[in-house]
Amino acid sequence: MGAVRITRARVFEADGTFTERDLCLQDGHIVAEAAGDTVDARGLMAIPGLVDVHFHGCMGQDMCNGTEEAIRTLASYEASRGVLAICPATMTYPEEKLNAIADAAAAWVATGPHKDCADLVGINMEGPFISPNRVGAQNPAYVQRPDAAMFRRVQARSGGLFKLVTLAPEVDGALEFVDELAGEVGVSVGHTCATYKQAATAFEHGARQVTHMWNAQPPLHHRDPAVVGAASDYDHVRVEIICDGIHLHPATVRIAFKLFAGRVIMIADSMEATGLADGEYALGGQKVIVRGNLATLESGTIAGSVTNLFDCLRWAVHKAKIPLADALLACTLTPAQAIGVDNSYGSLDTGCVANVVLVDDNLDIHAIYLRGERLD
Ligand SMILES: [Zn+2]
Repeated sequence: MGAVRITRARVFEADGTFTERDLCLQDGHIVAEAAGDTVDARGLMAIPGLVDVHFHGCMGQDMCNGTEEAIRTLASYEASRGVLAICPATMTYPEEKLNAIADAAAAWVATGPHKDCADLVGINMEGPFISPNRVGAQNPAYVQRPDAAMFRRVQARSGGLFKLVTLAPEVDGALEFVDELAGEVGVSVGHTCATYKQAATAFEHGARQVTHMWNAQPPLHHRDPAVVGAASDYDHVRVEIICDGIHLHPATVRIAFKLFAGRVIMIADSMEATGLADGEYALGGQKVIVRGNLATLESGTIAGSVTNLFDCLRWAVHKAKIPLADALLACTLTPAQAIGVDNSYGSLDTGCVANVVLVDDNLDIHAIYLRGERLD
């Protein structure tokens, strides 16, 4: 592998500032100094490859198909869009199906890294330990009581790839689950009817994230501020938000960034139609109809998004008017921290994987460097 020296870019730093400096890539990593081919990036920003910790599919494939071919499709599409580290989510399914997904992911990682494919840095278990009353687009047939032993069995099959698990804290057995697993995996409160008190109790017990805040949970009510209110009271809690222009009003997104400074994780939560035309698709075994940016079940329930995280970033900055640095951190360092991979991903610090995207002021992509190699 050769070395590359990117000169005169405005480099987005881990503290949220920009510095005009050279950026050196060698042997797949960011290094302090390297002699190599020089790339003049005058006028461009160098940002870390984005990190998406919650999406399901794209280009006709879904993580839950449980095949290496599906993972390849996700990883190559995301890489082509500047999303260079991925932690796709599984849906509410029985253990044997989750095992098949875990097996495919473990096999994929064992033979990696894969050319032109984003790094698979984790899996996010969105179901099945959710509330039967707030399934969203998850299949209620497979919802089950939180079961730490089952989680550990699937986790073992994956080789430890599960970094996040969603939990409804009000269901029977939920707090025992948090007590048992909070030291092993990031427990995220979601798909829940929890009150403020129930959510706060889960955070006291060690839950540290909120799954797509505001969606599939009660809203912030002035007498019961619910999950949003509880999350704002616990500084260790990070919150996922879907910035596709459909799931949340732009003002709601602005509120999230004001209320949760440094704690926002932007996610795509995309399903298999992402990157494809309007039509009929599937999510978690249910039919989904896609028209434009909107994907719904036949009942009208929103069923994931059809955007990628880079498009979410553009929407957040251009349409919701989120300050660029805040939006960038929410797509890079903060999600990397949430799944414990911030030593390698989510910033352009020396020693990190050389995942770099060169963009102009309009956030149009000019070049993508994946593990130090320029993508076509
Ligand atoms: Zn999801």
